[in-house]
Amino acid sequence: MTKTGKVYLAGSGPGDPDLLTVKARRLIDEADVVVYDQLPGKAILDLIPAKTEKIDAGKYAGNHTLAQDEINAVIVLKAKEGKTVLRLKGGDPYVFGRGGEEAEELVKAGIPFEVVPGITSAVAAPAYAGIPITHRDSNSMVTFITGHEDPTKDESGLDWELLAKFNGTLVIFMGVKMLARNCGELLKYGMDPKMPVALIERGTRPDQRVTIGTLDTISKLAEERHVKAPALTVIGKVVNLHDILGEQIVKW
Ligand code: SAH
Repeated sequence: MTKTGKVYLAGSGPGDPDLLTVKARRLIDEADVVVYDQLPGKAILDLIPAKTEKIDAGKYAGNHTLAQDEINAVIVLKAKEGKTVLRLKGGDPYVFGRGGEEAEELVKAGIPFEVVPGITSAVAAPAYAGIPITHRDSNSMVTFITGHEDPTKDESGLDWELLAKFNGTLVIFMGVKMLARNCGELLKYGMDPKMPVALIERGTRPDQRVTIGTLDTISKLAEERHVKAPALTVIGKVVNLHDILGEQIVKW
């Protein structure tokens, strides 16, 4: 009987290969199989050695190469073959990446696993855009929200009334298509229309692009500039620091 292998549920960080953890970088070299999404980006995926088996889980922006249960099944299967499996996900594996669900499946299947936290884009992309997500003078709280990408769903499941009153930084993942709706909800519940908003596309990558506006202008700006996923929306006074701190230019 083959000894069961092990799964590493690892984050790749936001895209800049220099922001991989030392552990994730080592696992890229050592794993027998890498099951990856597109989110880590080409520069990181190119680090996977030629000899390594590569499986594209490709759940990126609605492009379902493998369904979630198929991803879970393939990870379990490879581990049962005795392989060391690196499940590589963008950012941090437990921040809106369904990593928690994958971990639960591994427990259910009795597969040994370790989680390897990564630098979440929620912190890194604003940082490269010159926006500290907290600041003593203005924002002493921060909340991470998933903005959804399904315009057919009326209900977002989010308490926009509560969020509109939240006196801290809001970081919204996904939701580019829902930006107008999301801003509309915050305005409806009384958030200041002049609240600064940043859209950060492809943060920490050489083609990173930052769009700055306010709650009442940002969705029009996003349309004009054809803002696309992966992008984060940052709402709060800390966005003003972008003017002082400036954008970090990414070169690799
Ligand atoms: N686990 C990831 C998030 C997965 S959800 C993390 O911790 O970062 C996918 C969403 O993350 C994208 O739709 C986008 O909103 C955000 N995202 C991931 N990488 C990004 C990047 N480099 N720049 C901007 N947004 C990013």
